[in-house]
Amino acid sequence: MAFHVMLIPSMDCPSNCSYCWGVDKESEIMSIEIVEETVRWLKNFREEPVTFTFHGGEPLLAGYDFYKKALPLLSRELSHLNPAFAIQTNLWLMTPQIAELFAEYHIPIGSSLDGPVEINDFQRGSGYYEKTMHGYKIAREKGLQVSFISTFTSHSIKLKEDIFHFFLENNLNLKLHPALPSLRSEDPDEWAISPEEYGELLIYLLDEYLENMGEIEIKNIDHLCKGIFVRRGVVCTYADCVGDTFAIGPDGNIYPCYRFVGMDEYVMGNVRDHPTMDELEKSKSLMSLREWEKLVDEECADCDYIKFCRGGCPYNALTMNKESQKMEIDGVDHQCPAYKMIFKEIMDRANKEFLSPSNMPMFPGMESNNQSKPSKPGVMALMLKR
Ligand code: SF4
Ligand code: SF4
Repeated sequence: MAFHVMLIPSMDCPSNCSYCWGVDKESEIMSIEIVEETVRWLKNFREEPVTFTFHGGEPLLAGYDFYKKALPLLSRELSHLNPAFAIQTNLWLMTPQIAELFAEYHIPIGSSLDGPVEINDFQRGSGYYEKTMHGYKIAREKGLQVSFISTFTSHSIKLKEDIFHFFLENNLNLKLHPALPSLRSEDPDEWAISPEEYGELLIYLLDEYLENMGEIEIKNIDHLCKGIFVRRGVVCTYADCVGDTFAIGPDGNIYPCYRFVGMDEYVMGNVRDHPTMDELEKSKSLMSLREWEKLVDEECADCDYIKFCRGGCPYNALTMNKESQKMEIDGVDHQCPAYKMIFKEIMDRANKEFLSPSNMPMFPGMESNNQSKPSKPGVMALMLKR
């Protein structure tokens, strides 16, 4: 895994999405002093190139002045780490001034849109779609690259065809995210989709992707196919993220990932103390994730997909212990059945394609008379995609 630092300038967010439980309306905004301390911390921390992702809450709440100071600080003072930048934002607060600044630093934007306006606003709140599209237009006018994540919920999964065609017809690339059971609500499963539903959704999208090759990109499917081909995860979910990814909260606390920000038991240290990797390794937070890695090695040992799955995402393995009322990691990623379904589907198709008559000329002595090419691209085309 590459070295990745997520900066969380605020845990607040101006939108009010029904299935989101990660927002803290009382959150402070990160000060420039925390960015300066981050620079001091990272100066001698590691040698590899680093990617900084601004995440939230909603990171644009920090405002233009924050980025105007933070971006040159990080890129100038840490130039030996070749920093690259990215941001995950709902775009509501995008302005031409911010977009120009982001264009200067070649910052790709990830945003969120759950499909056509009626589906999106049902889940994310009235007016969300219009505000995001307004920001999208500003970002595109300044030449910024924007891709969208669509969260599939127990409601929207029934409308998957409408959502896929919305992205296809509007020339928008798609990344999907399954709504997770809330760790903090009375009815944790209200919006969540089951692993089986998620697996079926991925298989549906694989089919649609192959039908419409060249017209759309579905990032999750690309990542799954590429991971199988190179025999290692190419995104964090399917790779060992522990110890390579860090998130810094608004107050400078260091966590294993943005998804843990605000959970006291997962604080690893604070940037003001400039902790070494050895010191972080001794934190309860990192020790419990190292235990999880051992658990994956045991529980997934016999799985055919372990090399390019690695037990999935440790955050997805968290559950609430009803007795202690504490979050605990008690197994592998709860989406495991979904991963098994889609890995099996891709590998079965790849094996079939590999042994098909049109591929036989690759093997001396096994030439086939049937020289016809497959009528539509198969998964091998996705595996070999650059
Ligand atoms: S905890 Fe999950 S989302 Fe975060 S870096 Fe690890 S795999 Fe990715
Ligand atoms: S598919 Fe399931 S069992 Fe296999 S490596 Fe992934 S999490 Fe482990």
